[in-house]
Amino acid sequence: MIDIEKIRTDFPILGERVYGKDLVYLDNGATTQKPKVVIDRMEEVFTRYNSNIHRGVHHLSDIASREYEQAREIVRGFINAGSTDEIIFNSGTTAGINNVACSFGERFVGRGDEIVISALEHHANIVPWQMLCERKGATLRVIPMSDDGELNIDHYKAILGKSTRLVAITHASNALGVVPPVKEIIAEARRLGIPVLVDGAQGVQHGVVDVRDLDCDFYVFSGHKVYGPTGIGVLYGKRELLDDMPPWQGGGDMVKSVTFEKTEYNDLPFKFEAGTTNYAGAIGLAAALEYIGAVGLEEIAAAEADLLSYATERLSAIKGVTIYGNSSCKISVISFLIDGVHQYDAGMVLDKMGVAVRTGTHCAQPVMERLGIDGTIRASFCFYNTRHEVDRLAEGIEKVIEMFR
Ligand code: PMP
Repeated sequence: MIDIEKIRTDFPILGERVYGKDLVYLDNGATTQKPKVVIDRMEEVFTRYNSNIHRGVHHLSDIASREYEQAREIVRGFINAGSTDEIIFNSGTTAGINNVACSFGERFVGRGDEIVISALEHHANIVPWQMLCERKGATLRVIPMSDDGELNIDHYKAILGKSTRLVAITHASNALGVVPPVKEIIAEARRLGIPVLVDGAQGVQHGVVDVRDLDCDFYVFSGHKVYGPTGIGVLYGKRELLDDMPPWQGGGDMVKSVTFEKTEYNDLPFKFEAGTTNYAGAIGLAAALEYIGAVGLEEIAAAEADLLSYATERLSAIKGVTIYGNSSCKISVISFLIDGVHQYDAGMVLDKMGVAVRTGTHCAQPVMERLGIDGTIRASFCFYNTRHEVDRLAEGIEKVIEMFR
């Protein structure tokens, strides 16, 4: 069981007040708050050993390089990858997907080929594939979803075939919270020898992720959504694929030798880390992963499941509230609308009550189009939230309804 009092004191921002009210932060799907240990670790980098990594002979560079590589090892362990060669640091999920779309796509996708994604995807897992298809004369195929956001797996099986070069699927929908049957989706592609990329932006912070057990070929996530700093992310890739992929970007650190005639690329993982990386962010991310590892991923999942069921119960009981994405398998996200009230108006009134939610399309316009709506109000909970905060949200919604009646 999580010691919620203790946990909340680990996150300094949770003590903030907004318009004179205690902050209720329910926008964790967009970004999570940072525990003190992460803030302290970042401060330590800049006050004690800041120095560019891998290139210096001096003491500070040596410490920074060791800490950076130690961070890579911590990420490896966290997602149970087989080797640190398979862990590439970048700026986030978006960069990871673009890396795969550009370098895997460059080598393995051609005219007439197909990329399969799903109706649940964030724009970051749509647009890079569309751009690739345009460059290569390939086609994007989409697994459709039901009104509840559940993917049609029979349709998926039917569209997989000889032309499919890659399946790119979200671990969980940021817009609705729905969790597709990712393991089954991977197993089906694996049977046909088709690689799978999992967009873990909404996956890695909600429970144990084991990339070898999932048997995915690529897994991408962002540091800022898993209690770490902004501007840092991870691309995991199976070594045999990464080895066969050309570098995405050229520059310093991704090379072994350079002449005007020829460049020899560096080994993994450096081949995909051109230029000065966000080494301070990587070290901060490692602190975040150690922190949630110590809290316990299973405990986090249990606390969030409790908040989800309590919030679903509270919000469903309010007349005029419609929840979208009523699947039995969800992360702790509730996407909803209030009859007769525009989502922006509701979001602004809730804000004045100190309750931070997100409104709009959540970078998932095709999800909204499929549901025939122009956006939702999204409350996304995490393990530092409380039932009392769910009550504050529910009371806020009731107030909104009263105001707009
Ligand atoms: N995929 C999903 C499912 C997301 O929720 C997000 C962030 N909202 C992204 C991709 C993009 O992440 P980032 O902006 O950190 O690159």
